[in-house]
Amino acid sequence: MSNTVGDVVDLGRGLYAWLPPKRGWGLANCGLLVSSRGALWIDTPYDPFLAGQFLVESQKRLPEGAGIDRVIVTHANGDHFWGAGVLPGAEIIATREAREYLHYDPTPQQQHRLVAGSDPSTPLGAYLARHFGAFDWSATEEVRPTTCFTGELELTLGEYTVQVSSLPSAHTAGDLIVHLPAQRAVFSGDVIFSSTPQQPGDHPVHWAGPLSNVIEACERVLATGAEVIVPGHGPVLDPAGVREHMRYLAYVRERAHALHAAGVPATAAARRVIGEGRYPALGLPERLVVTIASEYRHLDGSGLPGVLEVMADVAAVAHELDPSSAGGPA
Ligand SMILES: [Zn+2]
Repeated sequence: MSNTVGDVVDLGRGLYAWLPPKRGWGLANCGLLVSSRGALWIDTPYDPFLAGQFLVESQKRLPEGAGIDRVIVTHANGDHFWGAGVLPGAEIIATREAREYLHYDPTPQQQHRLVAGSDPSTPLGAYLARHFGAFDWSATEEVRPTTCFTGELELTLGEYTVQVSSLPSAHTAGDLIVHLPAQRAVFSGDVIFSSTPQQPGDHPVHWAGPLSNVIEACERVLATGAEVIVPGHGPVLDPAGVREHMRYLAYVRERAHALHAAGVPATAAARRVIGEGRYPALGLPERLVVTIASEYRHLDGSGLPGVLEVMADVAAVAHELDPSSAGGPA
């Protein structure tokens, strides 16, 4: 992605959030923690250009001679860790389940070929070009976690403690949250997206579920007592913003269960929920196709479909909502 620079928000006591230049698919928030003894990242941007921007911003804030030698990855979607290649040799920390989940998502090279080779005359090709065409993974190698854990992991960085907790299947299988007690902050990854009317982002997209686990993950974030919550995507929240987002999740869950009980197929159910127009300020309503399909799989006891199969349905619904949106980058 070119010609764009994110914002760096100073959260105090050596902690910063890097917020990407706009909302949309793949534009995730990242964290930087700087101590007198070095620095670490929480997640990375999606492609080397954005990761390079975040690295430049990070280096301006490091003590003389210090480097960034650790990355905590909140989950195994590329928009949170494919940029790690700009930190060669860094320790990459993720959950064991995230390492397994990597097999489900395309590699950077596969994704590059998929987007570059997609036929823009089809809804799927047009959608991929519009939402993913500005990223560049042509030279991005696959990144693998180097330290994997399940449960709780406590790290020390100079004077600061970093508490990392793995979660049951929620946004993906293998999510984790990062609590920084001295900064009273949590980086939640994609178990939280900003969805408050005051600070609208995009509709969440949940690949694994069930939504009850996503809601429990939000409870867990609140239970830390943190006052600042950096979601995976969208503006930084306070606890009230997290509670607002939990109401969104409860609404989608309740509608999915009711429509499932009424025998409405998953994609039709997503069309209905979109049509209800409950959250008009949020972008990318077609992502409800993914989230509701994930919830249906738990109700039906069926397995994960291929990502491409799901994205074809997402693109078809996006095309119905806005036929003029096909073709050309956003
Ligand atoms: Zn994400």
